[in-house]
Amino acid sequence: MNKRIDLHTHTTASDGSLAPAELVRLAVRENLGAIAITDHDTVDGVQEGQRAGAELSLEVVPGVELSTDLRNKTVHILGYFIDVTHPELTDKLEWARSVRAQRNHKIVERFNELGIEMTYEEAAAKAGRDVVGRPHFAAVLLEKGIVSSMQEAFDIYLKRDGKAYVPKFRFTPEQSVGLILKAGGLPVLAHPGSYSWSPLELDGAVGDLCELGLAGIEVLYSEHTPSQVQIFLDIVRRRDLLPTGGSDFHGDPKPEIALGVGRGDLSVPYRWLEAMKKRIG
Ligand SMILES: [Zn+2]
Ligand SMILES: [Zn+2]
Repeated sequence: MNKRIDLHTHTTASDGSLAPAELVRLAVRENLGAIAITDHDTVDGVQEGQRAGAELSLEVVPGVELSTDLRNKTVHILGYFIDVTHPELTDKLEWARSVRAQRNHKIVERFNELGIEMTYEEAAAKAGRDVVGRPHFAAVLLEKGIVSSMQEAFDIYLKRDGKAYVPKFRFTPEQSVGLILKAGGLPVLAHPGSYSWSPLELDGAVGDLCELGLAGIEVLYSEHTPSQVQIFLDIVRRRDLLPTGGSDFHGDPKPEIALGVGRGDLSVPYRWLEAMKKRIG
């Protein structure tokens, strides 16, 4: 098989604009050899995608992308070939969702304790159809005249260590890698070019993750430069890791990234997927 593949895509199950079945139809139109569905902290889109893939003869790899705290950064860990019905995986993802939902209510409590009238509904009204988050609280503060700019809202109240700041829940690296391994999958460090790590920091982070059972690195990615790709390939060879690649397709939220080809020149070979399957056994 010489077709290109895309192992990093998002659907409406997280923040993509295409439903899983629509994504599969697009992949068939683009003549891709396989895709992986890797939504943020959820596997809810995978089975619909696989059903559509079975109908249209497109290989759909079950996946997930977990947000993880690593060395004071939010680092993404991809999981491939996971059992999306694995009870511990689905329980933990569900639990993480409920902890995140509570965060906004805790932010409201902080404001009320500070003597600022604020309700969750006010922030939700600013969010409209988006997921409620800190910018919406900032917009409410601005409207009430409590701050004179969004920046001020963040500086005084909402940034890390701000008066109304509540930390966002993220998995630890142990939890992310461990959960993917328990669900029978391959844990992969997502887009290592995105964390502004020095070569030394990158090597340290990859070393930490390898001790936990990391299986691969996302070498090819829409935003990686050719020299970054070389560096990541070297690490993969030196540590006997699997190279993976994908566009991080989201549809409308990131219109500049196309499925399969990223910014136009991405090409992930099918043989990389074969090597992953071999590692799974
Ligand atoms: Zn990511
Ligand atoms: Zn992603």
